[in-house]
Amino acid sequence: MKLYENTAAALSRMLTKEEVSAVEVAQSFLERIGDLDPLLKAFVTQTPDIALKMAADVDQRRKQGESLHPLAGVPIAIKDNICTEGIKTTCASRILSNYIPPFDATVVRALKAVGMPLLGKTNMDEFAMGSSTENSAFFTSRNPWDTGRVPGGSSGGSAVAVAAGMAPLALGSDTGGSVRQPASFCGLIGLRPTYGLVSRYGLIAFASSLDQIGPLALTAEDAAMLLGVIAGYDRLDSTSLPEDVPDYHRELETDIRGIRIGLIRENVDQQFDREVNAAVKKMLTVLEQNGAVIGEVSMPLTDYGLSAYYLIAPSEASSNLGRYDGVRYGYQSAGRHLEEMFSNTRGEGFGAEVKRRIMIGTYALSAGYYDAYYLKAMQVRTMIRRDYETAFKSYDLILGATTPTPAFKIGEKTDDPLQMYLSDVCNINDALAGIPSISVPTGLHSSGLPMGMQISAPPSGEKLLLKVAYFLDGQSRAFPQRPQLKTSEGGCN
Ligand code: GLN
Repeated sequence: MKLYENTAAALSRMLTKEEVSAVEVAQSFLERIGDLDPLLKAFVTQTPDIALKMAADVDQRRKQGESLHPLAGVPIAIKDNICTEGIKTTCASRILSNYIPPFDATVVRALKAVGMPLLGKTNMDEFAMGSSTENSAFFTSRNPWDTGRVPGGSSGGSAVAVAAGMAPLALGSDTGGSVRQPASFCGLIGLRPTYGLVSRYGLIAFASSLDQIGPLALTAEDAAMLLGVIAGYDRLDSTSLPEDVPDYHRELETDIRGIRIGLIRENVDQQFDREVNAAVKKMLTVLEQNGAVIGEVSMPLTDYGLSAYYLIAPSEASSNLGRYDGVRYGYQSAGRHLEEMFSNTRGEGFGAEVKRRIMIGTYALSAGYYDAYYLKAMQVRTMIRRDYETAFKSYDLILGATTPTPAFKIGEKTDDPLQMYLSDVCNINDALAGIPSISVPTGLHSSGLPMGMQISAPPSGEKLLLKVAYFLDGQSRAFPQRPQLKTSEGGCN
């Protein structure tokens, strides 16, 4: 077995026992990136020198007898909307294509503090607006299970990196599904934490009341380890939760007896792919056979949630993206006077989807329409939160499909933004409610593509989510975890 084929937990054990060095581990992933990234295009920026230097540092500290964090020496890939000091952070946008942050995001500081070597920055939809990486200003990442298909988005590059063995772990961000949907399309675990659990400081803002950074991993155990590193109160984020964080990894266990789980009727809709729904129901049977108490729940506001999200997120984006004027940082165009320079900078710097959202948001917030659109959407948001509160009176967890279909073809939805928006239908409401939600693999579709199931919990329910995901990891890995991939030499995996 090659080093890059290991989970983060396995690498951690090997590193701790000094069976391998952090430099060897980093080299293995860097070679894999060299082999596969030209085909799969997961990375916007690769940072091999930084990875090797950080790895060498970990090896040295270990040699000196320092006691290190279990993830010391386990490398990671980071979505390109998370600021990294001295490393380009582009948001996959032309307007930030040369932006080098002078500071680290709080999560990056945390990764560095435990000694996780940074492999590079991953591709995404521009400003995290999208579901496929096709809105990247640079290129589209490819799904390693079928390179003619999208990996999902907006954290598509991060998902590709982990699924293809180019990184054992990655960070994504989830505003309305961008960690969970690519996880589902690429056969991974993807966790959206409770709003406020992980600091947003240094995460380039899309929709601040929704944005959360979350882990993409091969297993629930790996996700738990990474969440433990990035979670926790941060005074630099005004919406950070002032709560103690449990040791997610140490507290993992598989006894699921007595957990009350509700199947969300609307998230196994008749219009969804039949196999996707059947796989969710099969998992539910496994849970029931092992002692979980199963029932059904209706979340009738699901469709309204989608409409509300596509008003609230663009409204916040239209305000957040006002800062890109070509003066303070990022791309600057020419103009005969200041206003023309602003206009040219923004006209040339933003892609079509970003412009569409800025226009929708500006419209929804404008004087005559605020009450009809933004305010209404916020009222729907409150109703959705209440629906969850009601559901969680009867159930500890609720679940359904992560996505209506497996990964779609590249180009299939690019001409129809509405179809693209609809692909997020299962992922939006949890985000609006601020609750944690995890996508776990449910098996392979007859087309050979992975499928996923999404489990949601009340605020701060990550421990329970990870426990059920960990249990399912142990039960249902009857399908291959890794895509069969042709490398540039034509060999397999
Ligand atoms: N696909 C959704 C959108 O386009 C969600 C994006 C995200 O979570 N960043 O807004």
